Amino acid sequence: MARDQGTSEFSDLRPKEKCGIIGCAGTSPITSDLYYGLRILQHRGQESAGLAVYEDGLKSKRGMGLVHEVFTKEDLVDLRGNSGIGHVRYSTTGSSVLDNAQPIVAKTSYGEIALAHNGDIANANEIREELSKKGWAFMTTSDSEVIVRLLANEIVNTGDVKRALREFTNRLVGAYSLALMINDSVYAIRDPLAIRPLCIGEGNDRMMIASESVVFDTLPGYRFIRDLKPGEIVELRSDGFESTRLPHPNHTAHCMFEWVYFARPDSVLDERLVYDARVKIGEQLAHEYPVPADIVVPVPESGRAQAQGYAHVSGLPVVEGLIKNRYIERTFIMPEQADRETGVMLKLNAIRSAVKNKRVVLVDDSIVRGTTIRKIVGILRLAGAREVHVRIGCLPIRFPCYLGIDMKTRDQFIANEKTVPEIADFIEADSLGYLSLRGLISALKHSRDDICLGCLTGEYPVPIPGEKMRKERPLEMFSDSATKPSARKKASSSR
Ligand code: SF4
Repeated sequence: MARDQGTSEFSDLRPKEKCGIIGCAGTSPITSDLYYGLRILQHRGQESAGLAVYEDGLKSKRGMGLVHEVFTKEDLVDLRGNSGIGHVRYSTTGSSVLDNAQPIVAKTSYGEIALAHNGDIANANEIREELSKKGWAFMTTSDSEVIVRLLANEIVNTGDVKRALREFTNRLVGAYSLALMINDSVYAIRDPLAIRPLCIGEGNDRMMIASESVVFDTLPGYRFIRDLKPGEIVELRSDGFESTRLPHPNHTAHCMFEWVYFARPDSVLDERLVYDARVKIGEQLAHEYPVPADIVVPVPESGRAQAQGYAHVSGLPVVEGLIKNRYIERTFIMPEQADRETGVMLKLNAIRSAVKNKRVVLVDDSIVRGTTIRKIVGILRLAGAREVHVRIGCLPIRFPCYLGIDMKTRDQFIANEKTVPEIADFIEADSLGYLSLRGLISALKHSRDDICLGCLTGEYPVPIPGEKMRKERPLEMFSDSATKPSARKKASSSR
């Protein structure tokens, strides 16, 4: 998407990637696998990176920047260990400072705990207050620290790690894919609605969990096994894994935005290849919004697969009419609007001969503020495009995300202020078409009940204070009471 909080890497103002997590346990050093795994997951977070490994105690390093900027060769030697976890981050809750980088490490009377979290906890403030009253001190503003303190509290109280892992999740409401180290053991947990992705794979003498399957495709010697199930807890061993399930409802709430924009196109998320979903989105767009035109131009990189789909159905050629400067990677973290807009211009240029006098269908994944896509339309017009018809592979985004994506306020969405024709005027497009809900659901190949659509519909899969829930699903469903007979009836035992 034209990352204006539109989407694409240019969309500085567009939704930011959440986080990527990884964990590995083996019989020989796994540090380099974690390091390269994090580099493969770099698209999920570029503000900070961290590793925590175990060898005669827990060792960790976190830093601001890209993975290769944070870790030197010497660090990777120092961080040698046979088990460990890692994290790349774009801040969701908590400001983007080193204190909020992960893994977060906590020392308890039971031992050391390290946590890497992808998601957002909707009731984090409530839990923080409760734990503060019990004397737990918080060092950061991050909801992930709330998780680690809550777990530490439970482990100290029960003295039983497995029981603590099951019980502390009873309190968590929201999205959480977790990689955990408790002393030298590595665990992974996926929330009962499986909102954020998490999968498991194996190497020669080691097991690994990672946010996306592409890690197992590209790390030599690894093989993807499967996605973690909703509410699944796994303990990694060098030769396999042990699995248990939390109470979970009979449906999921996978974040639709992972397929639309965030995940890598070569990842398979919950059995749907991201690339295929995006091509299908483009096909749907062409069915829903045909227009007389000469060429289809993707916003690189995020609109590329959708543009292929649009071209299949429309019969128009795909032309790389926009070229991205791939060496200007980080303007999205510039704090000022002016810098962000300059970043769009620095990152993109049009191929004049490809677009001059052409009627262009410009395809991108989403629009948030509209300022970036407007710039891109302007770049095409300056290069001589005769018409620019914008097609967007998602519905208008109008509501905040409380589940792991950095879209926190309604006033950032242009679709809350303007109608579609008014947005078309604002971005100076000849026409504008957003994908329909039916088109989106058919492209994702999951039923509507199994997808989170909160930022599109304003109805969320978990209780968010002041917001509507898509189905009445009491908090108790995810808590102790779910094991009571009346609640158990509602929860399916396996998926
Ligand atoms: S609200 Fe939107 S971005 Fe957030 S989890 Fe749901 S679908 Fe994804």
